[in-house]
Amino acid sequence: MSQEIRVRFAPSPTGALHIGGVRTALYNYLFARKNGGKMILRIEDTDQSRYVPWAEKYIKESLDWVGIEVDESPEKGGPYGPYRQSERKDLYAQYAKKLLDEGNAYYAFDTPEELDAMRERLKAARVASPQYNSVTRMEMKNSLTLPEDEVKAKLEAGEPYVIRLKVPRKEEIRLNDMVRGWVMVHSSAIDDKVLMKSDGMPTYHLANVVDDHLMKITHVIRGEEWLPSAPLHVLLYRFLGWESTMPQFAHLPLILKPDGNGKLSKRDADQHGFPVFPLSWEDKAEQVSGFKESGYLPEATLNFLSLLGWSPGNNEEMFDKEALIENFTIERIGKAGTKFDIDKAKWFNQQYLKRKSNAELAVNLSEQLAKVGIEVEQSVKEAVCNELKERAVFLNDLWEMGSFFFVAPLNYDEKVAKNKWKAEAVKVLEGFSNKLDSETEILTADKAKALFEESLNQEGVKMGKVMQSLRLAITGLGSGPDLMNLMEILGSSEVSQRIKRAIEELKVQA
Ligand code: GLU
Repeated sequence: MSQEIRVRFAPSPTGALHIGGVRTALYNYLFARKNGGKMILRIEDTDQSRYVPWAEKYIKESLDWVGIEVDESPEKGGPYGPYRQSERKDLYAQYAKKLLDEGNAYYAFDTPEELDAMRERLKAARVASPQYNSVTRMEMKNSLTLPEDEVKAKLEAGEPYVIRLKVPRKEEIRLNDMVRGWVMVHSSAIDDKVLMKSDGMPTYHLANVVDDHLMKITHVIRGEEWLPSAPLHVLLYRFLGWESTMPQFAHLPLILKPDGNGKLSKRDADQHGFPVFPLSWEDKAEQVSGFKESGYLPEATLNFLSLLGWSPGNNEEMFDKEALIENFTIERIGKAGTKFDIDKAKWFNQQYLKRKSNAELAVNLSEQLAKVGIEVEQSVKEAVCNELKERAVFLNDLWEMGSFFFVAPLNYDEKVAKNKWKAEAVKVLEGFSNKLDSETEILTADKAKALFEESLNQEGVKMGKVMQSLRLAITGLGSGPDLMNLMEILGSSEVSQRIKRAIEELKVQA
Protein backbone atom coordinates (compact mmCIF):
# COMPACT_ATOMS: atom_id res chain seq x y z
CA MET A 1 0.00 0.00 0.00
CA SER A 2 1.32 3.43 -0.82
CA GLN A 3 1.94 5.92 1.92
CA GLU A 4 -0.96 8.07 3.09
CA ILE A 5 -0.62 11.71 2.04
CA ARG A 6 -0.61 13.98 5.10
CA VAL A 7 -0.37 17.76 4.88
CA ARG A 8 -0.67 20.47 7.45
CA PHE A 9 -1.62 24.10 7.69
CA ALA A 10 0.48 25.49 10.51
CA PRO A 11 -0.39 29.12 11.24
CA SER A 12 1.01 31.10 14.15
CA PRO A 13 -1.75 32.79 16.16
CA THR A 14 -0.14 36.22 16.02
CA GLY A 15 -3.14 38.15 14.66
CA ALA A 16 -5.74 37.94 11.93
CA LEU A 17 -5.00 35.33 9.27
CA HIS A 18 -4.11 37.08 6.02
CA ILE A 19 -5.96 36.03 2.87
CA GLY A 20 -2.65 34.58 1.62
CA GLY A 21 -2.75 32.22 4.59
CA VAL A 22 -6.18 31.06 3.49
CA ARG A 23 -4.71 30.32 0.05
CA THR A 24 -1.98 28.22 1.69
CA ALA A 25 -4.62 26.33 3.66
CA LEU A 26 -6.68 25.86 0.52
CA TYR A 27 -3.81 24.39 -1.53
CA ASN A 28 -3.01 21.99 1.30
CA TYR A 29 -6.64 21.01 1.53
CA LEU A 30 -7.04 20.47 -2.22
CA PHE A 31 -3.90 18.37 -2.35
CA ALA A 32 -5.06 16.23 0.57
CA ARG A 33 -8.55 15.71 -0.83
CA LYS A 34 -7.33 15.02 -4.34
CA ASN A 35 -5.03 12.30 -3.04
CA GLY A 36 -7.35 10.81 -0.46
CA GLY A 37 -5.05 12.10 2.28
CA LYS A 38 -5.40 13.96 5.55
CA MET A 39 -5.39 17.68 6.27
CA ILE A 40 -4.05 18.75 9.64
CA LEU A 41 -4.40 22.09 11.39
CA ARG A 42 -1.51 22.71 13.76
CA ILE A 43 -1.32 25.86 15.83
CA GLU A 44 2.28 27.09 16.11
CA ASP A 45 2.07 29.14 19.27
CA THR A 46 5.56 28.87 20.72
CA ASP A 47 6.30 32.57 20.41
CA GLN A 48 4.71 33.88 23.60
CA SER A 49 5.64 37.46 22.86
CA ARG A 50 3.55 37.55 19.68
CA TYR A 51 0.64 35.45 20.91
CA VAL A 52 -2.82 36.95 20.27
CA PRO A 53 -5.58 35.17 22.20
CA TRP A 54 -8.37 35.56 19.61
CA ALA A 55 -6.23 34.54 16.64
CA GLU A 56 -6.83 30.78 16.85
CA LYS A 57 -10.58 31.25 16.81
CA TYR A 58 -10.23 33.62 13.88
CA ILE A 59 -8.22 31.02 11.96
CA LYS A 60 -10.82 28.37 12.59
CA GLU A 61 -13.74 30.61 11.63
CA SER A 62 -11.97 31.68 8.46
CA LEU A 63 -11.39 28.09 7.35
CA ASP A 64 -14.98 27.21 8.20
CA TRP A 65 -16.28 30.14 6.23
CA VAL A 66 -14.56 29.19 2.97
CA GLY A 67 -15.35 25.52 3.53
CA ILE A 68 -11.90 24.09 4.26
CA GLU A 69 -12.53 21.10 6.50
CA VAL A 70 -9.63 19.70 8.48
CA ASP A 71 -9.25 16.11 9.63
CA GLU A 72 -7.06 16.65 12.68
CA SER A 73 -6.83 19.83 14.75
CA PRO A 74 -6.71 21.12 18.33
CA GLU A 75 -10.48 21.02 18.36
CA LYS A 76 -11.02 17.70 16.61
CA GLY A 77 -8.02 15.91 18.05
CA GLY A 78 -6.45 13.04 16.14
CA PRO A 79 -3.85 10.29 16.47
CA TYR A 80 -0.83 12.62 16.56
CA GLY A 81 -2.01 15.30 19.00
CA PRO A 82 -1.87 17.58 20.78
CA TYR A 83 -2.09 19.93 17.82
CA ARG A 84 -1.13 23.09 19.67
CA GLN A 85 2.63 23.42 20.02
CA SER A 86 2.48 25.04 23.44
CA GLU A 87 0.95 21.77 24.65
CA ARG A 88 3.83 19.77 23.19
CA LYS A 89 6.52 21.77 24.94
CA ASP A 90 8.18 18.88 26.77
CA LEU A 91 8.54 16.89 23.61
CA TYR A 92 10.92 19.30 21.94
CA ALA A 93 13.47 19.29 24.76
CA GLN A 94 14.38 15.67 24.12
CA TYR A 95 15.22 16.38 20.48
CA ALA A 96 17.25 19.41 21.45
CA LYS A 97 19.12 17.11 23.83
CA LYS A 98 19.80 14.60 21.08
CA LEU A 99 21.26 17.38 18.93
CA LEU A 100 23.41 18.54 21.87
CA ASP A 101 24.59 15.03 22.71
CA GLU A 102 25.61 14.33 19.14
CA GLY A 103 27.45 17.62 18.75
CA ASN A 104 25.00 19.18 16.34
CA ALA A 105 23.84 21.88 18.72
CA TYR A 106 25.43 23.85 21.55
CA TYR A 107 24.57 26.01 24.53
CA ALA A 108 25.05 29.74 24.13
CA PHE A 109 25.19 32.09 27.11
CA ASP A 110 25.66 35.43 25.38
CA THR A 111 23.70 38.33 26.83
CA PRO A 112 21.73 40.69 24.56
CA GLU A 113 24.49 43.29 25.08
CA GLU A 114 27.17 40.84 24.01
CA LEU A 115 25.19 39.94 20.90
CA ASP A 116 24.78 43.60 20.05
CA ALA A 117 28.48 44.20 20.54
CA MET A 118 29.27 41.33 18.18
CA ARG A 119 27.01 42.79 15.49
CA GLU A 120 28.55 46.23 15.92
CA ARG A 121 32.03 44.76 15.62
CA LEU A 122 31.14 42.96 12.42
CA LYS A 123 29.43 46.02 10.98
CA ALA A 124 32.54 48.05 11.67
CA ALA A 125 34.50 45.41 9.80
CA ARG A 126 32.07 45.92 6.88
CA VAL A 127 30.40 42.53 7.13
CA ALA A 128 27.16 42.91 5.17
CA SER A 129 24.89 40.80 7.34
CA PRO A 130 26.44 40.12 10.72
CA GLN A 131 25.45 36.69 11.97
CA TYR A 132 26.09 34.22 14.74
CA ASN A 133 27.52 31.50 12.50
CA SER A 134 30.25 28.94 11.99
CA VAL A 135 32.88 31.68 12.02
CA THR A 136 31.67 34.11 14.66
CA ARG A 137 30.53 31.45 17.13
CA MET A 138 34.15 30.81 18.03
CA GLU A 139 34.40 34.31 19.53
CA MET A 140 31.26 34.05 21.60
CA LYS A 141 30.30 32.66 25.00
CA ASN A 142 29.08 29.16 24.30
CA SER A 143 29.76 25.51 24.98
CA LEU A 144 32.11 25.36 21.99
CA THR A 145 34.40 28.02 23.38
CA LEU A 146 34.06 27.74 27.18
CA PRO A 147 35.72 24.96 29.20
CA GLU A 148 33.39 22.06 29.96
CA ASP A 149 33.33 22.66 33.72
CA GLU A 150 32.41 26.30 33.26
CA VAL A 151 29.50 25.31 31.02
CA LYS A 152 28.39 22.82 33.61
CA ALA A 153 28.62 25.39 36.37
CA LYS A 154 26.61 27.92 34.39
CA LEU A 155 23.89 25.39 33.68
CA GLU A 156 23.77 24.31 37.30
CA ALA A 157 23.61 27.91 38.48
CA GLY A 158 20.57 28.39 36.25
CA GLU A 159 22.16 31.05 34.05
CA PRO A 160 19.98 31.89 31.07
CA TYR A 161 20.99 30.15 27.85
CA VAL A 162 19.72 29.28 24.41
CA ILE A 163 20.47 26.19 22.34
CA ARG A 164 21.82 26.90 18.87
CA LEU A 165 22.17 24.67 15.83
CA LYS A 166 25.78 23.99 14.92
CA VAL A 167 25.66 24.60 11.20
CA PRO A 168 28.55 22.85 9.38
CA ARG A 169 31.06 25.23 7.93
CA LYS A 170 31.40 23.94 4.41
CA GLU A 171 28.57 21.90 3.10
CA GLU A 172 26.18 22.18 0.22
CA ILE A 173 22.56 21.69 1.17
CA ARG A 174 20.14 20.76 -1.57
CA LEU A 175 16.46 20.24 -1.69
CA ASN A 176 14.12 19.51 -4.55
CA ASP A 177 11.16 21.81 -4.16
CA MET A 178 8.05 20.65 -6.02
CA VAL A 179 7.39 24.17 -7.27
CA ARG A 180 10.84 25.68 -7.58
CA GLY A 181 12.93 22.67 -8.52
CA TRP A 182 16.40 22.19 -7.06
CA VAL A 183 17.37 24.73 -4.44
CA MET A 184 21.01 24.74 -3.41
CA VAL A 185 22.46 26.66 -0.51
CA HIS A 186 25.91 26.72 0.93
CA SER A 187 25.96 26.20 4.68
CA SER A 188 28.12 29.29 5.14
CA ALA A 189 25.03 31.30 4.22
CA ILE A 190 23.08 29.86 7.14
CA ASP A 191 23.40 31.18 10.66
CA ASP A 192 23.39 29.13 13.84
CA LYS A 193 19.69 29.51 14.50
CA VAL A 194 18.36 29.38 18.03
CA LEU A 195 16.45 26.13 18.52
CA MET A 196 15.47 26.49 22.18
CA LYS A 197 14.91 29.88 23.75
CA SER A 198 15.83 30.92 27.26
CA ASP A 199 12.18 30.54 28.32
CA GLY A 200 12.42 26.82 27.54
CA MET A 201 10.22 27.11 24.48
CA PRO A 202 11.42 25.82 21.12
CA THR A 203 11.68 28.22 18.20
CA TYR A 204 9.63 27.79 15.07
CA HIS A 205 12.40 25.84 13.28
CA LEU A 206 12.82 23.09 15.83
CA ALA A 207 9.14 22.72 16.68
CA ASN A 208 8.12 22.75 13.05
CA VAL A 209 10.55 20.02 11.99
CA VAL A 210 9.91 17.83 15.03
CA ASP A 211 6.16 18.09 14.57
CA ASP A 212 6.19 17.51 10.83
CA HIS A 213 8.16 14.35 11.53
CA LEU A 214 6.06 13.12 14.46
CA MET A 215 2.82 13.94 12.69
CA LYS A 216 4.01 11.98 9.64
CA ILE A 217 3.62 14.92 7.30
CA THR A 218 4.46 13.89 3.74
CA HIS A 219 4.24 17.28 1.99
CA VAL A 220 4.98 20.75 3.33
CA ILE A 221 3.03 23.25 1.25
CA ARG A 222 3.63 26.80 2.47
CA GLY A 223 4.36 30.37 1.44
CA GLU A 224 7.52 31.38 -0.35
CA GLU A 225 8.66 33.43 2.64
CA TRP A 226 9.66 30.11 4.24
CA LEU A 227 11.91 29.03 1.38
CA PRO A 228 15.04 30.54 2.98
CA SER A 229 14.36 28.41 6.07
CA ALA A 230 14.02 25.19 4.12
CA PRO A 231 17.77 24.36 3.90
CA LEU A 232 18.01 24.81 7.65
CA HIS A 233 15.12 22.43 8.07
CA VAL A 234 16.87 19.91 5.83
CA LEU A 235 19.88 20.11 8.14
CA LEU A 236 17.67 19.49 11.14
CA TYR A 237 16.10 16.45 9.50
CA ARG A 238 19.58 15.17 8.75
CA PHE A 239 20.89 15.69 12.28
CA LEU A 240 17.81 14.13 13.81
CA GLY A 241 18.24 11.09 11.58
CA TRP A 242 15.03 11.65 9.66
CA GLU A 243 16.28 12.72 6.26
CA SER A 244 15.05 9.60 4.48
CA THR A 245 11.47 10.29 5.51
CA MET A 246 11.68 14.06 5.21
CA PRO A 247 8.52 15.62 3.72
CA GLN A 248 8.59 17.00 0.22
CA PHE A 249 8.50 20.78 0.02
CA ALA A 250 6.32 22.99 -2.16
CA HIS A 251 6.76 26.73 -1.68
CA LEU A 252 3.88 28.79 -3.04
CA PRO A 253 4.50 31.97 -5.07
CA LEU A 254 4.06 35.36 -3.46
CA ILE A 255 0.80 37.24 -3.75
CA LEU A 256 1.69 40.66 -5.15
CA LYS A 257 0.14 44.11 -4.92
CA PRO A 258 -2.38 44.90 -7.68
CA ASP A 259 0.31 46.71 -9.68
CA GLY A 260 2.74 43.83 -9.24
CA ASN A 261 5.25 45.91 -7.29
CA GLY A 262 6.01 44.00 -4.13
CA LYS A 263 4.15 41.83 -1.71
CA LEU A 264 0.46 42.45 -1.00
CA SER A 265 0.05 44.10 2.39
CA LYS A 266 -2.56 45.44 4.72
CA ARG A 267 -1.55 48.91 3.67
CA ASP A 268 -2.69 48.15 0.10
CA ALA A 269 -6.04 47.18 1.48
CA ASP A 270 -6.34 50.43 3.42
CA GLN A 271 -5.23 52.43 0.43
CA HIS A 272 -7.45 50.86 -2.22
CA GLY A 273 -10.39 49.93 -0.01
CA PHE A 274 -10.41 46.20 -0.64
CA PRO A 275 -10.13 43.42 1.93
CA VAL A 276 -7.02 41.30 2.45
CA PHE A 277 -8.47 39.32 5.34
CA PRO A 278 -11.17 36.66 5.14
CA LEU A 279 -13.23 38.05 8.02
CA SER A 280 -13.53 41.48 9.61
CA TRP A 281 -11.64 42.02 12.84
CA GLU A 282 -11.18 44.70 15.39
CA ASP A 283 -8.14 45.61 17.35
CA LYS A 284 -7.90 48.53 19.72
CA ALA A 285 -9.08 51.47 17.65
CA GLU A 286 -8.79 49.63 14.38
CA GLN A 287 -11.65 48.17 12.36
CA VAL A 288 -10.47 46.02 9.47
CA SER A 289 -12.85 44.67 6.86
CA GLY A 290 -12.98 41.11 5.59
CA PHE A 291 -14.09 39.39 2.41
CA LYS A 292 -17.15 38.02 4.15
CA GLU A 293 -18.39 41.33 5.48
CA SER A 294 -17.58 43.09 2.21
CA GLY A 295 -20.16 40.88 0.54
CA TYR A 296 -18.00 38.19 -1.05
CA LEU A 297 -19.50 34.72 -1.15
CA PRO A 298 -17.33 31.95 0.30
CA GLU A 299 -17.46 29.91 -2.92
CA ALA A 300 -16.40 32.94 -4.98
CA THR A 301 -13.57 33.69 -2.57
CA LEU A 302 -12.42 30.08 -2.79
CA ASN A 303 -12.43 30.10 -6.58
CA PHE A 304 -10.60 33.45 -6.65
CA LEU A 305 -7.91 32.21 -4.25
CA SER A 306 -7.50 28.93 -6.10
CA LEU A 307 -6.19 30.80 -9.14
CA LEU A 308 -3.70 32.93 -7.21
CA GLY A 309 -0.75 30.72 -8.06
CA TRP A 310 -2.36 27.63 -9.53
CA SER A 311 -3.76 27.31 -13.03
CA PRO A 312 -5.68 24.48 -14.66
CA GLY A 313 -3.62 24.67 -17.87
CA ASN A 314 -6.47 25.95 -20.00
CA ASN A 315 -8.68 29.04 -20.02
CA GLU A 316 -11.27 27.70 -17.66
CA GLU A 317 -11.85 29.82 -14.58
CA MET A 318 -14.99 28.63 -12.89
CA PHE A 319 -14.05 25.94 -10.38
CA ASP A 320 -16.19 25.07 -7.44
CA LYS A 321 -14.68 23.09 -4.60
CA GLU A 322 -15.37 19.71 -6.15
CA ALA A 323 -13.91 20.74 -9.50
CA LEU A 324 -10.85 22.13 -7.77
CA ILE A 325 -10.29 18.90 -5.91
CA GLU A 326 -10.53 17.00 -9.15
CA ASN A 327 -8.17 19.25 -11.11
CA PHE A 328 -5.63 20.41 -8.56
CA THR A 329 -2.00 19.35 -8.92
CA ILE A 330 1.15 20.83 -7.40
CA GLU A 331 2.81 20.63 -10.83
CA ARG A 332 0.49 23.36 -12.04
CA ILE A 333 1.52 25.85 -9.37
CA GLY A 334 3.63 28.63 -10.89
CA LYS A 335 6.89 30.06 -9.59
CA ALA A 336 6.17 33.67 -10.45
CA GLY A 337 4.40 35.98 -8.02
CA THR A 338 0.77 36.50 -8.78
CA LYS A 339 -1.05 39.84 -8.76
CA PHE A 340 -3.98 40.35 -6.44
CA ASP A 341 -6.72 41.60 -8.75
CA ILE A 342 -9.78 42.52 -6.74
CA ASP A 343 -11.82 43.07 -9.91
CA LYS A 344 -11.39 39.40 -10.61
CA ALA A 345 -12.72 38.62 -7.15
CA LYS A 346 -15.75 40.78 -7.91
CA TRP A 347 -16.26 39.02 -11.21
CA PHE A 348 -16.24 35.63 -9.47
CA ASN A 349 -18.71 36.95 -6.93
CA GLN A 350 -21.05 38.02 -9.67
CA GLN A 351 -20.81 34.62 -11.35
CA TYR A 352 -21.61 32.74 -8.14
CA LEU A 353 -24.36 35.14 -7.16
CA LYS A 354 -26.03 34.59 -10.53
CA ARG A 355 -26.00 30.85 -9.96
CA LYS A 356 -27.90 31.08 -6.69
CA SER A 357 -31.59 30.32 -6.57
CA ASN A 358 -33.98 33.22 -6.09
CA ALA A 359 -35.00 31.76 -2.75
CA GLU A 360 -31.38 31.78 -1.54
CA LEU A 361 -30.89 35.37 -2.63
CA ALA A 362 -34.17 36.43 -1.07
CA VAL A 363 -32.73 35.65 2.37
CA ASN A 364 -30.45 38.66 2.12
CA LEU A 365 -33.22 40.83 0.78
CA SER A 366 -35.44 39.80 3.70
CA GLU A 367 -32.76 40.92 6.14
CA GLN A 368 -32.53 44.32 4.50
CA LEU A 369 -36.30 44.69 4.39
CA ALA A 370 -36.59 43.74 8.04
CA LYS A 371 -34.11 46.51 8.88
CA VAL A 372 -36.40 49.12 7.36
CA GLY A 373 -39.55 47.42 8.64
CA ILE A 374 -41.12 46.47 5.32
CA GLU A 375 -43.02 43.23 4.99
CA VAL A 376 -43.22 41.62 1.57
CA GLU A 377 -44.47 38.27 0.32
CA GLN A 378 -41.79 35.68 -0.39
CA SER A 379 -42.90 35.30 -4.02
CA VAL A 380 -42.39 39.02 -4.60
CA LYS A 381 -38.94 38.96 -3.04
CA GLU A 382 -37.97 36.06 -5.25
CA ALA A 383 -39.31 37.78 -8.34
CA VAL A 384 -37.26 40.86 -7.49
CA CYS A 385 -34.11 38.76 -7.04
CA ASN A 386 -34.76 37.19 -10.39
CA GLU A 387 -34.81 40.62 -12.02
CA LEU A 388 -31.65 41.86 -10.32
CA LYS A 389 -29.35 38.87 -10.10
CA GLU A 390 -27.79 39.35 -13.51
CA ARG A 391 -26.35 42.70 -12.54
CA ALA A 392 -25.64 42.38 -8.82
CA VAL A 393 -22.03 41.91 -7.76
CA PHE A 394 -22.67 41.63 -4.03
CA LEU A 395 -25.67 40.39 -2.08
CA ASN A 396 -26.29 43.84 -0.67
CA ASP A 397 -26.58 45.18 -4.20
CA LEU A 398 -29.95 43.46 -4.38
CA TRP A 399 -31.32 45.97 -1.93
CA GLU A 400 -29.21 48.88 -3.07
CA MET A 401 -30.10 48.41 -6.72
CA GLY A 402 -33.69 47.46 -6.18
CA SER A 403 -35.12 49.31 -3.19
CA PHE A 404 -37.57 50.97 -5.62
CA PHE A 405 -39.34 47.63 -5.87
CA PHE A 406 -40.49 48.22 -2.31
CA VAL A 407 -40.36 51.97 -1.77
CA ALA A 408 -41.73 54.57 -4.21
CA PRO A 409 -39.09 57.07 -5.29
CA LEU A 410 -38.77 60.28 -3.32
CA ASN A 411 -36.32 61.89 -5.71
CA TYR A 412 -35.91 61.75 -9.45
CA ASP A 413 -32.71 61.70 -11.44
CA GLU A 414 -32.32 65.34 -12.42
CA LYS A 415 -30.48 64.78 -15.64
CA VAL A 416 -33.03 62.31 -16.97
CA ALA A 417 -35.86 64.58 -15.88
CA LYS A 418 -34.29 67.52 -17.68
CA ASN A 419 -33.74 65.63 -20.92
CA LYS A 420 -36.79 63.41 -21.10
CA TRP A 421 -39.70 64.77 -19.10
CA LYS A 422 -41.39 66.43 -22.07
CA ALA A 423 -45.05 67.28 -22.64
CA GLU A 424 -45.65 64.46 -25.12
CA ALA A 425 -44.15 61.89 -22.74
CA VAL A 426 -46.26 63.15 -19.86
CA LYS A 427 -49.37 62.91 -21.99
CA VAL A 428 -48.67 59.28 -22.81
CA LEU A 429 -47.97 58.50 -19.16
CA GLU A 430 -51.21 60.16 -18.09
CA GLY A 431 -53.17 58.04 -20.54
CA PHE A 432 -51.29 54.92 -19.46
CA SER A 433 -51.99 55.53 -15.79
CA ASN A 434 -55.70 55.98 -16.53
CA LYS A 435 -55.71 52.69 -18.39
CA LEU A 436 -54.08 51.03 -15.42
CA ASP A 437 -56.74 52.46 -13.10
CA SER A 438 -59.54 50.91 -15.08
CA GLU A 439 -57.73 47.59 -15.43
CA THR A 440 -59.49 44.82 -13.56
CA GLU A 441 -57.22 41.89 -14.34
CA ILE A 442 -53.89 41.26 -12.66
CA LEU A 443 -51.15 43.14 -14.47
CA THR A 444 -48.74 40.88 -16.32
CA ALA A 445 -45.64 42.09 -18.15
CA ASP A 446 -47.37 41.41 -21.48
CA LYS A 447 -50.49 43.23 -20.41
CA ALA A 448 -48.45 46.21 -19.23
CA LYS A 449 -46.67 46.31 -22.56
CA ALA A 450 -49.94 46.15 -24.49
CA LEU A 451 -51.51 48.97 -22.46
CA PHE A 452 -48.42 51.09 -22.80
CA GLU A 453 -48.32 50.57 -26.55
CA GLU A 454 -52.01 51.52 -26.76
CA SER A 455 -51.27 54.75 -24.93
CA LEU A 456 -48.37 55.50 -27.28
CA ASN A 457 -50.51 54.88 -30.33
CA GLN A 458 -53.28 57.08 -29.04
CA GLU A 459 -50.89 59.99 -28.77
CA GLY A 460 -48.95 59.03 -31.88
CA VAL A 461 -45.66 59.01 -29.97
CA LYS A 462 -42.77 56.57 -30.45
CA MET A 463 -41.83 54.24 -27.60
CA GLY A 464 -38.24 55.59 -27.48
CA LYS A 465 -39.53 59.04 -26.54
CA VAL A 466 -41.31 57.85 -23.41
CA MET A 467 -39.50 54.77 -22.05
CA GLN A 468 -37.05 56.65 -19.88
CA SER A 469 -39.74 58.92 -18.50
CA LEU A 470 -41.77 55.88 -17.55
CA ARG A 471 -38.75 54.44 -15.79
CA LEU A 472 -38.06 57.74 -14.09
CA ALA A 473 -41.62 57.95 -12.81
CA ILE A 474 -41.59 54.41 -11.45
CA THR A 475 -38.04 54.14 -10.09
CA GLY A 476 -36.65 57.67 -9.96
CA LEU A 477 -33.68 56.46 -12.00
CA GLY A 478 -32.45 56.51 -15.56
CA SER A 479 -31.67 52.81 -15.88
CA GLY A 480 -32.52 49.52 -14.24
CA PRO A 481 -34.13 46.15 -14.79
CA ASP A 482 -36.74 45.24 -17.38
CA LEU A 483 -39.63 47.71 -17.03
CA MET A 484 -42.44 45.41 -18.01
CA ASN A 485 -41.38 42.79 -15.48
CA LEU A 486 -40.97 45.53 -12.91
CA MET A 487 -44.55 46.68 -13.52
CA GLU A 488 -45.83 43.14 -13.19
CA ILE A 489 -44.17 42.88 -9.79
CA LEU A 490 -45.47 46.26 -8.61
CA GLY A 491 -49.04 45.81 -9.84
CA SER A 492 -51.28 48.28 -11.67
CA SER A 493 -52.37 50.46 -8.81
CA GLU A 494 -48.82 51.05 -7.50
CA VAL A 495 -47.52 51.84 -11.00
CA SER A 496 -50.38 54.22 -11.63
CA GLN A 497 -49.88 56.00 -8.31
CA ARG A 498 -46.18 56.43 -8.97
CA ILE A 499 -46.84 57.90 -12.40
CA LYS A 500 -49.40 60.33 -10.98
CA ARG A 501 -47.04 61.41 -8.27
CA ALA A 502 -44.21 62.01 -10.75
CA ILE A 503 -46.52 64.10 -12.89
CA GLU A 504 -47.26 66.24 -9.84
CA GLU A 505 -43.66 66.53 -8.76
CA LEU A 506 -41.77 67.08 -11.99
CA LYS A 507 -41.76 70.18 -14.13
CA VAL A 508 -42.42 69.61 -17.80
CA GLN A 509 -39.39 70.56 -19.86
CA ALA A 510 -39.69 72.69 -22.94
N1 GLU B 1 4.01 28.91 11.72
C1 GLU B 1 4.46 29.22 10.40
C2 GLU B 1 3.60 30.34 9.87
O1 GLU B 1 3.12 31.08 10.62
C3 GLU B 1 4.37 27.97 9.55
C4 GLU B 1 5.26 27.94 8.38
C5 GLU B 1 5.28 26.53 7.81
O2 GLU B 1 4.24 26.15 7.24
O3 GLU B 1 6.26 25.85 7.97
O4 GLU B 1 3.36 30.55 8.72
